Amino acid sequence: MKANYLIFIIISINLINCSIPFLNILYENGSVANLKSPAHTTYIYGHKNPDADAICSAIVLADYLKKSGNTNNIVPCRLGKLNKETQYIINFFEVDSPVLIYDLSGADDVILVDHNSPSQSLDFKNANIVGLYDHHAITGFETKDPIKVIIEPVGCTCTILYKLYKSNNITISYKMAGLMISAIISDTLLLKSPITTQDDINAVNELSALTGIDYKNYGFNMLLKGTDVSDLTEKDIITFDSKSYTVNGYKIEIAFVNIVDVSEILIRKEKLLKEMNKSIDENKIQLFVLTIVDIIDMDSTILVSGSITNVVEKAFNVTISDNEAFLKGISSRKKQVYPYISNVINELPEYINSNFNKKIEVNLSYLILTLLFLLI
Ligand code: MN
Ligand code: MN
Repeated sequence: MKANYLIFIIISINLINCSIPFLNILYENGSVANLKSPAHTTYIYGHKNPDADAICSAIVLADYLKKSGNTNNIVPCRLGKLNKETQYIINFFEVDSPVLIYDLSGADDVILVDHNSPSQSLDFKNANIVGLYDHHAITGFETKDPIKVIIEPVGCTCTILYKLYKSNNITISYKMAGLMISAIISDTLLLKSPITTQDDINAVNELSALTGIDYKNYGFNMLLKGTDVSDLTEKDIITFDSKSYTVNGYKIEIAFVNIVDVSEILIRKEKLLKEMNKSIDENKIQLFVLTIVDIIDMDSTILVSGSITNVVEKAFNVTISDNEAFLKGISSRKKQVYPYISNVINELPEYINSNFNKKIEVNLSYLILTLLFLLI
């Protein structure tokens, strides 16, 4: 009996390490399978370190699908803690926070919103992804079957959702309108960011007219909530709006923080750099950029660390002094910071992680050991 458990544990560890489908095997031991709801369940979720759009678009899309006649058990989910801005939105419009999930147990189908990169998501290789609603570049996304994909080059996923309600003549409630206005204001920084399109402006104006919400006043207060870092630790600041990317083999991390008075963050520079370096060591990152956006002037001050900081100097034509540089007119990760940096990284020779081959060897030896156990 004990030997059986041992084999089960060894197989599970191996399968997790090798990232081979393992959900069914784990279900067989009983407890997880019971979590399944009798109805066909669809999970909708946005990226890790969720921002307002990742949260609001999950809730709004669930509402839209239900109102369009989808009878599945549709569950808006989230992959992390709500930030202050999003908490403010959830409280203001009195909606339920999406369910926090760590894996896809219980989901028959999955719909991704506001992201498509595996590095910003749960391990969805074996999930039945049926939809994607997004406004980001497609990076490393594969599916087994054809799925419904709506990606538009607009400032926010909620702008896409607003257009869906409108074109299908589906009534928008006050709460859903409020969530969409909030997400668009958050992603476009009150329609001032270079990612803002005419569709975003129209959506905010039309939704404001529909609900009577003074979006400028509400939006500024909402953004202000997001800039309150007084009770955040340095680790919170470098993670709560951070995204991971792999470009040309290099692992990079680009964190954002919005602020009214940049000095409020810079006063903690040494401690922030210490946390960034800790993350660089632990996660084997080659470049970490913390982008501090002045939401009034829409310029950024960046803190940079890692083995390829010269990439940043080249990308923005600046000199980094004491791990710091000023980027005039830069406020968008998606349209400015990430593409400028990744363009330069793509010109570098490919980065080969030397630990990678070692890991495969170790996994293979586990696998052979397991097979031997099974044969005995
Ligand atoms: Mn987002
Ligand atoms: Mn977004």
